[in-house]
Amino acid sequence: MPATLLDGTRIAQQIRSEVAEEVKALAAASAPSGNLRPGELGSSNLRPGLAVLLVGHNPASEIYVRGKIKACEEVGIYSETLTPPESATTSELLAHVDELNRRDDIDGILVQLPLPPQVDAKKVLLAVDPAKDVDGFHPMNVGFLSTQRRGLVPCTPAGVMEILGRSGIAASGREAVVVGRSDIVGKPVAMLLTNANATVTICHSKTRDLAGVCRRADILVAAIGRAGMITRDFVKPGATVIDVGMNTVTDPAEFRRFFAGNAKREEAFRKKGSTLVGDVHPEVAEVAGAITPVPGGVGPLTIAMLMFNTVKAAKMRRGSRMPEMSRA
Ligand code: NDP
Repeated sequence: MPATLLDGTRIAQQIRSEVAEEVKALAAASAPSGNLRPGELGSSNLRPGLAVLLVGHNPASEIYVRGKIKACEEVGIYSETLTPPESATTSELLAHVDELNRRDDIDGILVQLPLPPQVDAKKVLLAVDPAKDVDGFHPMNVGFLSTQRRGLVPCTPAGVMEILGRSGIAASGREAVVVGRSDIVGKPVAMLLTNANATVTICHSKTRDLAGVCRRADILVAAIGRAGMITRDFVKPGATVIDVGMNTVTDPAEFRRFFAGNAKREEAFRKKGSTLVGDVHPEVAEVAGAITPVPGGVGPLTIAMLMFNTVKAAKMRRGSRMPEMSRA
């Protein structure tokens, strides 16, 4: 029997609607009109705000940022994008971060990566106030996560947990294997699964008998960055497989290795000249119990959780000025 598809687009939409409801409630709590802009209401403005620092003109970054700003508009979060030039120095960016750290109307600060080579990216990221670190990458938030304190959790890993939770897939007591140990995906996913009482194994490029270790998993998370690397021999029949990978395939021979005979995909590939492939080979759907598709699996959760984190940051930072809210 083919695996159940875990529909990330639907789950992300659900989260975005919930966030929109919270934003509406916050706006209603701060002004009768509800239609606010920062500054209009001084300290009574409770509308969450996100600032994005987008340096230079990296086309991929510009597309990502547009998606984030559009999502803010949809859920009612105030947003603004600062666009320093490609030539910006570390100290210029630190000055921007410092100003955003001080602004009461900005709850979330997102530094879009990559930064130009002359910039000390680590220094800039470390300067973001941990209370406004909606990416959840600051060492303070990493520490909060590992010690099970309330903080801001990285968006993609948090999205993985939302997919599991909202699909009724329990982690507690299960064997979980995470392939990938990056600071932004693999490690935080493993930490979240540990906190959810799974028994977690983290794998990486030096792991011996990777397929054998993966076959132990009730929940297998692939965050590798290698198209279709997880084939059916890595997967225990009936396991849940979460595919975080996003790999662009342009080579027709490689495309055929994954999608030969899939008329819809072939048509789209012919038109576009490329396709998005996860780290999990499509054949895994024949053995897994449940699986996230690519696209339409983990991907949509990342922006949804950024919206969630911005509201969570607003609630945590402005604390007593906020009305009691339902989640986070
Ligand atoms: P990184 O390159 O930072 O990390 C990849 C990890 O995979 C490393 O730990 C590496 O091991 C491991 N790895 C690489 N090759 C192998 C191998 N042959 N066998 C076992 N392990 C291997 O990638 P990210 O964590 O940033 O991203 C992973 C994937 O997730 C990418 O496809 C990325 O595009 C996608 N992604 C998707 C997001 C979304 O919104 N859906 C968001 C972020 C990322 P080692 O440490 O030993 O080098």
